[in-house]
Amino acid sequence: RESFDIHLAGEDAMVAFGRQLGSMLPDGCLVFLEGDLGAGKTTLSRGMLSAFGHHGVVKSPTYTLVEPYHLGKKLIYHFDLYRLGDPEELEYIGIRDYLQQANCCLVEWPERGAGMLPEPDLRIQIRIENGARRVLVEANTERGEGAIKQLAA
Ligand code: ADP
Ligand code: MG
Repeated sequence: RESFDIHLAGEDAMVAFGRQLGSMLPDGCLVFLEGDLGAGKTTLSRGMLSAFGHHGVVKSPTYTLVEPYHLGKKLIYHFDLYRLGDPEELEYIGIRDYLQQANCCLVEWPERGAGMLPEPDLRIQIRIENGARRVLVEANTERGEGAIKQLAA
């Protein structure tokens, strides 16, 4: 499978990369964002959301688990599963409907929903490196591969 990795120094570079990645996401895509607290998952999500036309604040939906963004004709869901007690809870919040309705779902802490989430199109891992960040984007489906090929082009 295709993958792409990049070293990014500073929040602005992170947002800019997120915007570039966001513009390449195919319709219906599921994106996992992995990395420690403070790694930059929400920052990168902010960049991706800006590609869809959201230019305001992006709060980490830690307590609500999910935040919807209605952007033009698109519906994007931004999940943060950090506070999810048990993956089964995703069933109760109606995870399948969210995934079906969305043009794109961004999921922070997907590990917390293990077993209840389908395979993502893209898996993003962020590591802190001397104050900057190493971002690894891996394709997990053919749709995801399409996005990575554009990144690498
Ligand atoms: P997470 O959602 O992973 O918990 P956040 O995005 O909320 O992380 O916070 C990340 C923190 O790291 C913010 O303070 C942000 O300014 C900073 N940051 C994000 N990307 C970078 C980067 N590429 N280099 C340095 N600092 C970054
Ligand atoms: Mg976050």
